[in-house]
Amino acid sequence: MTQGLGSGNLPIRVCTVGSGPSAFYAVEALLKASGLDVRVDMFERLPTPFGLVRGGVAPDHQKIKSVSKVYDKIAEDPRFRFFGNVRIGKDLTIEQLERSYHAIVWAIGCESDNRLGVPGEDLAGVCSATEFVGWYNGHPDFRDRTFDLQRSRRVAVVGNGNVAMDCSRILLQSADRLADTDIADHALATLRQSSVTEVVLLGRRGPAQAAFSPKEIEEIAELPDVDVAVSAEDAHVDEHSAKWLETQARSAQRSVKFLQECAARGPQDRKKRLTCRFLVAPVAFEGDGGRVRAITLQHAALDLDKDGTPRARPIDRFTTLEVDLVLKAVGYRGVPLPGLAFDDRRGIIANLDGRVLDRVGGAARRGHYVVGWAKRGPTGLVGTNSPDSKATVEQLLQDVRAATTLAPTVEGGAEKALRAANLDFVTWQDWQRLDAHERAQGQDRGKVRHKEPDVAALLQAVRALRK
Ligand SMILES: Cc1cc2nc3c(=O)[nH]c(=O)nc-3n(C[C@H](O)[C@H](O)[C@H](O)COP(=O)(O)OP(=O)(O)OC[C@H]3O[C@@H](n4cnc5c(N)ncnc54)[C@H](O)[C@@H]3O)c2cc1C
Repeated sequence: MTQGLGSGNLPIRVCTVGSGPSAFYAVEALLKASGLDVRVDMFERLPTPFGLVRGGVAPDHQKIKSVSKVYDKIAEDPRFRFFGNVRIGKDLTIEQLERSYHAIVWAIGCESDNRLGVPGEDLAGVCSATEFVGWYNGHPDFRDRTFDLQRSRRVAVVGNGNVAMDCSRILLQSADRLADTDIADHALATLRQSSVTEVVLLGRRGPAQAAFSPKEIEEIAELPDVDVAVSAEDAHVDEHSAKWLETQARSAQRSVKFLQECAARGPQDRKKRLTCRFLVAPVAFEGDGGRVRAITLQHAALDLDKDGTPRARPIDRFTTLEVDLVLKAVGYRGVPLPGLAFDDRRGIIANLDGRVLDRVGGAARRGHYVVGWAKRGPTGLVGTNSPDSKATVEQLLQDVRAATTLAPTVEGGAEKALRAANLDFVTWQDWQRLDAHERAQGQDRGKVRHKEPDVAALLQAVRALRK
C-alpha cells in the first residue's frame, strides 16, 4: 500500500472531466470525505461550467438553474481548481491525466441523441430536441443552427418526456414571457417571429405511460392562450394499463386524470394548442423540395410483456400528419471517447456501479470512475446525481484504502502540459468575473443574464476581464 496516500504527506489528486451536476456532487463528496487530504481539479471543454444546468434546463425554469449557487459554494474550497476550455481527448490525453492523478472521475454526460432510424429523418426541418434545447440556451455547439419558426405553424415533437415538454412550452408561450430570462438572443429574436400555433406531442405508448410529469403538462395548460387538446380516443386507458396504473406512482395517475379532464372538456377557443397523441410512432418523414412536409404514423396497441409492463405493438393502421417542423425528443446518448470503453447498447461509458471497465462486462480499469448521465444514461433530475455521485466516490475511496488507484508520476503535470501548449484555460476566478459580466450585461438588457454563445467571444471576454 502506498504509504499515507490521502494523508497530509501525500494528498490524493483527483480530477473530474466535466463540470455538470454530477461532477460537482462528486467534488463535494471528495472534499467532505473525513480524514482525507485531497486536491480536486475539474476539466471542462467549454469556457463555462455547469453542463446541462446552463445548456439544458429551460430558461423559464430559473429556479432550477439557481442550483449553480450550491456549486459556487463547493468551488470556494481552496483544494478545488477549475480548468475551463480544456477538452479531454484533444487538449489533454487520457494518458496525461493518468500520469497526473490518482483517480479520474468521468462526468461527461450524454451529449448526443438517439436516432429514430426511419426514412426521411435527414430531411430539412427534422431536428433533434438536443439541438433545439442547446440553441435556445446559447450552447456554443448549437449557435449556428437555424429553426424556421416563421414559416412553421404545426410542429411535431416525437416523444413525451420532460425534454419534449420543455420544447413544447418554449414554442407555445409568448416570446415576451421569455424576454427577461437568460434565453439566447438569437432564439428570442426567432421566437418573436414564430408562426407556431400547434405542437403535436407524439407518444409511442398510451396516456398511462406518458413520460412527462403532471407538473409539466399542467404548466403548459396554465400558459395564457394555450389549450391542451386530447381526443377521447387518445385519452382512453385500456384495461391492461388501468390495472398497471394502480401499481404506479401517484404522479402517473395524476397525469392520466388531467388528460382525461382535457378530453372531457373538449377543445377550447384559444390561439395555440398542445395536442397530445398516444399509441403512434413515426415510420417515415415525407418531404417536399428536401423539406419535411408530413409524417407517416403507425398506430399501436398495448400488450403486457412478461414483467407485466405495457408495451406498444404496432398495428396495421397508418395515418398522415402534416407538419412544418419536427423535433425528435427520444433520448440523449453518450458520445464514445477514444481510449475509454463504451457500452454501445446503453450509450454510456462501460462501468459497473461507477467503476469504469476495460470493456463491457470486463474488469475494472484502475483509477477510472464515472458519474451522472455518462454512468447511468440520460435519466434523472439534477438532484438524482447527488446520491449517485456519492456512491461512485465511495467506490473510489475504497480503492484508495486498498491502494488500487493510479500512481501518478508528475505532480501538476496536467497544468504544466496546458501551459506548455499555450492553452488559455479558464480558472474559477475567470469564470466568476465572466459570471458577473454576463449578469451585468443581462441587466442592461432587462434579462437575468446575457449569454455569449461563441467560444472565441467568451474567451475574449475572459481575457478582457483579467485586465
Ligand atoms: C433539456 C433538458 C432539460 C432538463 N431540465 C431539468 C430540469 O428542469 N430539472 C432537473 O432537475 N433536471 C433537468 N434536466 C436533467 C439534468 O440536466 C441532468 O440530470 C444533469 O445535468 C446531468 O448531469 P451530468 O453532470 O451527468 O451531465 P451534464 O450536465 O451534461 O454535464 C456534462 C459536462 O461534461 C462536459 N464534457 C463533455 N465531454 C467533455 C470532455 N471530453 N472534456 C471536458 N469536458 C467535457 C460537457 O461540456 C458538460 O459541461 C434536464 C436535462 C435536459 C437534457
